Amino acid sequence: MSLLVVGSLALDTIETPFGKAERTLGGSATFISVAASYFVQPVRLVGVVGGDFPKKELEYFEEREIDLEGLQIIEEGKTFHWHGKYDYDLNSRESLVTELNVFADFDPVVPESFKKSRYLCLGNINPELQKKVFQQMENPKLIVADTMNFWISGKKDALIDVLKHINVFIINDSEARELSEEANLFKAAKKIQSFGPKIVIIKKGEHGALLFYENELFSAPAYPLESIYDPTGAGDSFAGGFIGYIAKTDDISFENMKRAVIFGSTIASFCVEKFSLEGTRDLSHIQIKDRFNEFTRFSAFEPSEL
Ligand code: AMP
Repeated sequence: MSLLVVGSLALDTIETPFGKAERTLGGSATFISVAASYFVQPVRLVGVVGGDFPKKELEYFEEREIDLEGLQIIEEGKTFHWHGKYDYDLNSRESLVTELNVFADFDPVVPESFKKSRYLCLGNINPELQKKVFQQMENPKLIVADTMNFWISGKKDALIDVLKHINVFIINDSEARELSEEANLFKAAKKIQSFGPKIVIIKKGEHGALLFYENELFSAPAYPLESIYDPTGAGDSFAGGFIGYIAKTDDISFENMKRAVIFGSTIASFCVEKFSLEGTRDLSHIQIKDRFNEFTRFSAFEPSEL
C-alpha cells in the first residue's frame, strides 16, 4: 500500500561520548523513509533541502526507491541544520543549535500523484507544516505523527490542533510528560488520547515502548544492545519501520500493530549501533528478520500456575 512521508532532511552535527560527526546526513524524513523502504517501495517523500545537500545522498534515496517528486531543492538556500549533544545517559540529549534554514519558508506541495496515498507519516517538523500536508491528502486510511520537544515548547497550540486529526501519535517518554503535564506515563497517554489520537506509542529509549491502542496496552521489550554509538534517528527509524510494516500488510488491528512496534524497534536498534544513517542505510531482509525473531525470543515466556 502507498506511503507518503513528510519531515525534515538535515545536515546534523552530533556529539556523543564516543565521537563527533559534522554535517552528516540526518532529519526525520531521512530516517523514516529509509526505514520504511525495507517494507514498502516506493516511499513517497515530501520535504525541502538546500543547494548544499549532497547529490550522492539524493542518488542513494533513489536507489532505495524513495520517490523524490515531492522534494523541493532550493539551490540558493541552506539545508536544515541541527546540532545535538549526548552524555553517557544516551536517553537524554541537548539540542545546541536548530537552524531551520530552507524550512523557515517551506510551503509543502503534495504532488497530484501522491495525494491518494493510503498511509501518511508526519515526521517531526513544524506542526503547521504537518497540517498543510494532511490537508492536501485525499482520505488517507491512517495518519501517524511524531514530534519533538522543540515544537512542544515552541508551537504547542499548533501541535494540539494536529493531534485532533491524526490516528497514531508517536512520542518519547520525556516529551509525553512535557506535553501532557503528567509525570506518570499511563496518565500521560490517556491525556494525549483525549487530545485526538486513539493510538499513542510512547518510546522509552533503551527500555522499550508502550503501545496504547484505544483501551488496550502492549508493552514492547527493548533489544539488549551492547554497543550504542549514536541514538540520533532512533525515534524516526522506529516510526519508519512501524508505518512501513503497517503499509506493507495494510492491517491496522491491535495484533498487527504489536508486530509493527517490534519491527520499528528492530530498525531503531540497528540505527543506534552506528553514527548517523550508517546503521540503517544498507540492511538486508535477513538481518531484519533475524533480529525481529530475537526480540520475540528475549521476551517470550511460558505461562504457569501459581
Ligand atoms: P530522533 O533522534 O529520531 O528524535 O530525530 C533526530 C533527527 O531529528 C535529527 O537527524 C535532526 O536533524 C532532526 N531534528 C532535530 N530537531 C528538529 C526539529 N526541530 N524539527 C525537525 N527535525 C529536527
